[in-house]
Amino acid sequence: MKNILISGAWPYANGSLHIGHIAALLPGDVIARYYRAKGNQVVYVSGSDCHGTPVTIRAKQEGKTPREVSDSYHTEFCEVFCKLGFSYDLYGKTSDEWHIDFVRSFHRKMYESKYISEKTVPQLFCTTCNKTLTDRLVIGICPFCGEKTRGDQCDACGEVLEAENIKKPKCAECGSPLTLQTTKQLYIEISKLEKELTAYLDAHPKWRKNAISFTKRYFDEGLRDRAITRDLDWGIDVPKTGYEGKKIYIWAENVLGYMSASRVVCDARGVDYEELWGDARHYYVHGKDNIPFHTIILPSLLLAHGGGWRLPDDIISSEHMTLDGSKISTSKNHAIWAKDIVDRYNPDALRYFFIINGPEKRDTDFTWREFTERNNSELLGIYGNFVNRSLAFIVKYLEGVVPNGVTDETLHSAIENAFTSVGQKIENGQLKDALGEVFDLIRLGNKYYDTEQPWKTRVSNPDKCGNTLYNCVQLIANLSVLLHPFLPFSSEKLFSWLGVRPEWTEQNVISGLLLPRISILFERLEHKE
Ligand SMILES: [Zn+2]
Ligand SMILES: [Zn+2]
Repeated sequence: MKNILISGAWPYANGSLHIGHIAALLPGDVIARYYRAKGNQVVYVSGSDCHGTPVTIRAKQEGKTPREVSDSYHTEFCEVFCKLGFSYDLYGKTSDEWHIDFVRSFHRKMYESKYISEKTVPQLFCTTCNKTLTDRLVIGICPFCGEKTRGDQCDACGEVLEAENIKKPKCAECGSPLTLQTTKQLYIEISKLEKELTAYLDAHPKWRKNAISFTKRYFDEGLRDRAITRDLDWGIDVPKTGYEGKKIYIWAENVLGYMSASRVVCDARGVDYEELWGDARHYYVHGKDNIPFHTIILPSLLLAHGGGWRLPDDIISSEHMTLDGSKISTSKNHAIWAKDIVDRYNPDALRYFFIINGPEKRDTDFTWREFTERNNSELLGIYGNFVNRSLAFIVKYLEGVVPNGVTDETLHSAIENAFTSVGQKIENGQLKDALGEVFDLIRLGNKYYDTEQPWKTRVSNPDKCGNTLYNCVQLIANLSVLLHPFLPFSSEKLFSWLGVRPEWTEQNVISGLLLPRISILFERLEHKE
């Protein structure tokens, strides 16, 4: 299949990114880099989610406008992603004109469908603030679990809520009890799409367990129709007469960012956008909290629009990453902020840890001790060591020239195998296993080096010594390609030293190649308590 769309979740531009965001989003970059190396037409997009009440609330706290706040977090996100090597083809923001225009025209068409209806609904009003309130501007008690909640989603049980339905609603700002009024809003009648959505879920038995169970739970509770417009000051204007002053609810527009951003990329490349949204494979990469938005809300919007758009194929939905054994909490400042670590550590060391210890199937924990240990014993101890001892040997004893040799069949077939098997695992979203398998191959290389003992044969049997190093270099070249999706910075170093291209196929380094000045790939880290 030629076209691959990788859709990374759009982080809220109302606060800094922490390690949990990075762990959830990084798989998208690995998958994108892999497919590019395979020669597919890859469109990898994401952006900052700039609208909605969280941004408005933050703006008020900081005494800025929502645009100023979201723009400044957007800039921070761009820097973090860039330093970590995220290879987005476009990382935009929902306040960009191209997104706004796209969403308005998508909605205008969607409003003609039988799935969109107008309802007169109760709406919460704060007489103290003289304002209509919704989403996070309302606090109260969750009707599902009885815990304290915000009006948009309950942190305790994960339910997506309508502010009007929560119990004992109060104004988040001034704490006053709220009164009910009525207004009209547009609704998407998801209940009418039950047959299509059920068939869609049933057609994807290979989704991650959390994606299937979270989605099923929504079906079991009965699919509810959802408002797609809101009484807010900040957001995208509803393109319908009679809705002046109302905005499109963020979840009816931010998930369309995958379409709007990929449209920009396709237009710039001069490739067919409709084909990307038709004959293709689509990956959606996000944390588990976002599952229903990608398995129910987005498919509902796409179906209601009626454009024949492709529905998500692969849901790469992470569990949570915890910190020192407990849940990351931005409000309690129990978090490691991405902006604080991207300058301090080798980006590949961070990427290695977030994949090999990634919350792929269950929650995983971040501790500085484990990060340091895995860097030292695995990344440096296994991989860095193999590369360094092989190349340094050639520089020291063989005048820096890759010697001639005969291909070792065991290594050769292990390499050949790895391209197929690691590739398959990446395609399936099993990145931990994929990376682990490449490391098994490196272990095989280290074993080969130890068994062949080039430091002895250098004197006793120079041809054998040359043969050993020849095979080690071949393996390193292939490792650099196999690891490029995971560890692009170190791989690009090796590409330039060995003249390798990032193509997902077995590589061959010519004997006689003069190595340039080499350096170590990874630093040893000290653990500080
Ligand atoms: Zn709840
Ligand atoms: Zn109030």
